[in-house]
Amino acid sequence: EVAFLNGRFLPLADATVSIEDRGFQFGDGVYEVIRTYRGRPFEVAAHLARLDRSARAIQLHQPYPEARWSQLILEGIERAAYPESKIYLQVTRGAAPRDHSYAADLVPTVVMTVRELQPIAAAVKSRGVAAMTTEDIRWGRCDVKSINLLANVLARQQAKQTGVYETILVKDGSVTEGSVSNVVVVRDGSLITAPEGPRILSGVTRAVVLRLARDHGVAVHERYPSQGDLFAAEEVFLTGTTVEVLGVVEIDGKTVGSGQPGRLTNRIAEWFSAQTV
Ligand code: PLP
Repeated sequence: EVAFLNGRFLPLADATVSIEDRGFQFGDGVYEVIRTYRGRPFEVAAHLARLDRSARAIQLHQPYPEARWSQLILEGIERAAYPESKIYLQVTRGAAPRDHSYAADLVPTVVMTVRELQPIAAAVKSRGVAAMTTEDIRWGRCDVKSINLLANVLARQQAKQTGVYETILVKDGSVTEGSVSNVVVVRDGSLITAPEGPRILSGVTRAVVLRLARDHGVAVHERYPSQGDLFAAEEVFLTGTTVEVLGVVEIDGKTVGSGQPGRLTNRIAEWFSAQTV
């Protein structure tokens, strides 16, 4: 593994921060996860733009310009030398004696790790995955990619304990997104997915997929799918950096569509993988 902390690369075991870091004490920070295809980072500009937006939204001064991040990411990938890498970036507000409010002059803690990416098995992709729904108990700024992930952690753990792949979050009857992915519902041959805004993370993969769908003449409705839409859907799929485009074939024990990843899901997955070569 490769680690980078506050300006230098170092062994992961030596990459330690203060117990007074506000990331540790308050979850006061933001992050990104980027993956490589054929050793090259995918959609870096979109991820770095989102890191910047997340940081600004919480008044955190994110110290590295895009060019510095890009160069660091490439160096990290090169040092790690994996077939495919998963790059984690995190910026916290820095270390200070514990106090909810913060001083303007804190020095942010900047972290990057590069680890080997284990792609989702081809068999899982072709079979699709099961999911469950649960109440979306997150805060009102889910568009900020905050390291404060407790509600996502609990949702993900529920999926694990239930023996399904992902938890689909539902807020006041509306499907927002997954615990680590965006959710797209197919009805009457068109895509329905939650609009960008404070209730979802604006997924980089979501944006690529919606663009590809529109380019191929598939109608896209950016509105919240209802729970009814979810269970009447012809197809449901997840999008995300780690899940890519992944068919959901069962929700809360009920079969979705034919019980296999749908035709449109498979076509979109193909269009998507053509972007990654
Ligand atoms: N929604 C949540 C809550 C996430 O954590 C993620 C991260 O993967 C996504 C959606 C998908 O975003 P992206 O496609 O940028 O990875």
